[in-house]
Amino acid sequence: MLSWEHTPSLIPMMRERAWVEIDLAAVAHNVQQLRRSLAAGTDLMAVVKADAYGHGAVTVARTALQHGATWLGVATIPEGIELREANIDAPILLLGAANTPEQVRAIAHWDLQPTLCNPKQALVFAETMSHMGRSLPVHLKLDTGMSRLGMPWQEAAAFAQLVQGLPNLQIASVYSHLATADEPDQTVMQLQHHRFEAAIAQLCSAGIAPPRLHLANSAATLVDPALHYNMVRTGLATYGLHPAPHLSDRLNLQAVMQVRARITQVKSLQSGTGVSYGYKFIAPKDMQIAVVGIGYADGVPRLLSNRMTVLIRGQRIPQIGSITMDQLMLDVSTIPNLQEGEVVTLLGQDRGDRITADDWANLLGTISWEILCGFKHRLPRLTINQSQEVAHGVGKEGSGGRS
Ligand SMILES: *Cc1c(COP(=O)(O)O)cnc(C)c1O
Repeated sequence: MLSWEHTPSLIPMMRERAWVEIDLAAVAHNVQQLRRSLAAGTDLMAVVKADAYGHGAVTVARTALQHGATWLGVATIPEGIELREANIDAPILLLGAANTPEQVRAIAHWDLQPTLCNPKQALVFAETMSHMGRSLPVHLKLDTGMSRLGMPWQEAAAFAQLVQGLPNLQIASVYSHLATADEPDQTVMQLQHHRFEAAIAQLCSAGIAPPRLHLANSAATLVDPALHYNMVRTGLATYGLHPAPHLSDRLNLQAVMQVRARITQVKSLQSGTGVSYGYKFIAPKDMQIAVVGIGYADGVPRLLSNRMTVLIRGQRIPQIGSITMDQLMLDVSTIPNLQEGEVVTLLGQDRGDRITADDWANLLGTISWEILCGFKHRLPRLTINQSQEVAHGVGKEGSGGRS
């Protein structure tokens, strides 16, 4: 990705076309809220994989660590290296799998902590570490019902005994991941919880006491303190979204990401005129439309074409026609004297109204996680520290126009 932050000459251009605002005060607030919901001895891991769900891993990680998180979670080795290169020295758990000696060497070199999910992998790690003459903390992953990464929970004790017998590996934690913690029906979640408990009991009988146990993602963290163990691994809640509607009253979270763009052209259309590729919208009357400089390559899903609304001057405005790669069109017939350069809010707050990633996810039949991750590629990211102030500033600037 073009590194706006590291190219000072580009900074004045960051708000020229379209941009993402990342409110670090909201990250701090969310982390504090989560922290307060945990018992004193429970650690908080900020999950910052996928560039912190599109929010920027380094800035989010720093802010989360300043406000109560003590661990970081990433999916891939390069994601971990990025944090280390930014001089972040908190423990980093690699949630994804690594299998080759090259990966093991990189993990050890960058002081990352790997997830182990089967004996073969454990042997590769042990052998490579013995060649390096070093030892490594490792985290054992159990599959208790997600059917993704992990050793079957029934084999927990045998697996842990094997790893414990390997000279260069130290078990730093045993963990598992829940498949349905965000659903109102808790049957599967409680089954996974019981399996995790049974696995721990097995370990205990085998004389193995892992220094740390963890199971909860954001949803489970909100649902039941019995799932917290020694650490929770929260991604989504850190970014201010609730994992499910029925959990929305559990904590007061604030959305961290807002997405804005500018109007690049305003024009009149005659009734019957087609708009955008495929003419999926035909003007039903004479109307005013506006072109906005943001499109699906920026993270606005094309499937929202003709379905989404945006905010201009605090007013809901319908999007019309197919969303294109870099631009989209709006029906602005209800806004008097709209100026090119005015600011459009696609996600976030404008005056008294707000559009959330959940609104988009509901329209599309997907989840807010995917919407947020869609913004990690192209748009410049503006780090701000008070969403209210900046939203207000943008609004003022918007109504005044721009030359
Ligand atoms: C991504 C991930 C999380 C965070 O999930 P959220 O629902 O975003 O809180 C936690 N644990 C594991 C293993 C993950 O892969």
